[in-house]
Amino acid sequence: MQLSFGPSYERFREEARAFIGAHWSPGGDARAFRAEAIARGYFYPRFPKAYGGGGGDGDPLLSMIVREECAAAGAPFELAGIGVKMLAPTLLVRGAEWQKQRFIGPTLMGDVLWCQGYSEPEAGSDLASLRTRAVREGDEWVIHGHKIWTSDAHRADFMFLLARTGGEGGKHNTLSYLLLDMRQPGVTVRPLKQLTGESHFNEVFLDGARTPADWIVGAPGEGWSVGRTTLAFERAGLNAPDMLDDLVVQIKAIARTKLRDGRPLIEHDHIMEELGIIDGYCLAHRYSVLRQVAMDAAGEDPGLAALCTKLSATDIGLRIARLAQDVLGDQGLLMPPPGVTRDNMDPMFWALRAVAVTIAGGASNIQRNIIAERGLDLPRSAQ
Ligand SMILES: Cc1cc2nc3c(=O)[nH]c(=O)nc-3n(C[C@H](O)[C@H](O)[C@H](O)COP(=O)(O)OP(=O)(O)OC[C@H]3O[C@@H](n4cnc5c(N)ncnc54)[C@H](O)[C@@H]3O)c2cc1C
Repeated sequence: MQLSFGPSYERFREEARAFIGAHWSPGGDARAFRAEAIARGYFYPRFPKAYGGGGGDGDPLLSMIVREECAAAGAPFELAGIGVKMLAPTLLVRGAEWQKQRFIGPTLMGDVLWCQGYSEPEAGSDLASLRTRAVREGDEWVIHGHKIWTSDAHRADFMFLLARTGGEGGKHNTLSYLLLDMRQPGVTVRPLKQLTGESHFNEVFLDGARTPADWIVGAPGEGWSVGRTTLAFERAGLNAPDMLDDLVVQIKAIARTKLRDGRPLIEHDHIMEELGIIDGYCLAHRYSVLRQVAMDAAGEDPGLAALCTKLSATDIGLRIARLAQDVLGDQGLLMPPPGVTRDNMDPMFWALRAVAVTIAGGASNIQRNIIAERGLDLPRSAQ
């Protein structure tokens, strides 16, 4: 199958390539390049200029082309991360005007970092049963609770969190979505040590932490609906085909040089067969994501496709991880060496992390339930 973007998109690609060539050289100033790319409308086009975005019409195919061209030139792209991918788009659709003005621009430039305070020891998949409470005292919310698995809390400036603020309407309608300055008294962050050796996530204890009354997104009691908006952005960010392809390229490179029984691994039937299967899955996944983006660009609801791509990406990731372990052999039994992080994508590191991303943003079983109930109209699960 041969897919192309069409003539107007290819003209745009030429322009973007010329812009990158003129403004980026290896070792250049990534921040200055990002600022130029935003000013030109290439980065963050879904965000209006008034909030620090590129101010384009938000056609996702254009963003995809810019990303491809940046990757080809080794140039920086838009920042990723919890603030950029989850909080900023949530504020854009659900935030108050002052929240958009104050938080979106610095978040897109990486000047402020966010963490997500959803999960608790007794509330993961069943998120709506969370127990953190926020009580209104004068002009402030006073928060008591215990969050867990809070990625990047040890580095974050702010947290967006779900807390129970009371009122009528059962467990879903008594939650609110609050913003919190992590430097407030009453916020304690304790890192959790992971199998990979790093401490990427944390426990966060909130013992009377205070946040201003208007640091709430949506109205009191609307936290469930605002929180789901954020989750939809989170899941959409976990389906990246490029990340899977990069790993396959790395594994193939290792399999070409590493010998088993005197022959490069890539010549062994079972490795060749598995690589072929994985290549097929990666291509199918890429086309599913392209279909989803194309429907989005045409103003159509991607529906089931949007629900399926997080699940398919993480399922393929697990398969790649198993192959990485096979290819790496003894080396695969060792912990990743110091300095290997999720940013430099060592295949073994990925192997250890592949299970994690089947859970992050909602476990695969829960995603299957959502696909069944919302996508296929099957009866709700008994729980
Ligand atoms: C890498 C990573 C980063 C994370 N970062 C954050 C973060 O920044 N902020 C944050 O708030 N949380 C974060 N989390 C937590 C994540 O959201 C939860 O781990 C996830 O929602 C699952 O909750 P749980 O761990 O309590 O598992 P549980 O809910 O206890 O689930 C355990 C198992 O039971 C299955 N299960 C549960 N209920 C059902 C059901 N109804 N039907 C079928 N199967 C079911 C699940 O699929 C899972 O396999 C992160 C998790 C990971 C792995």
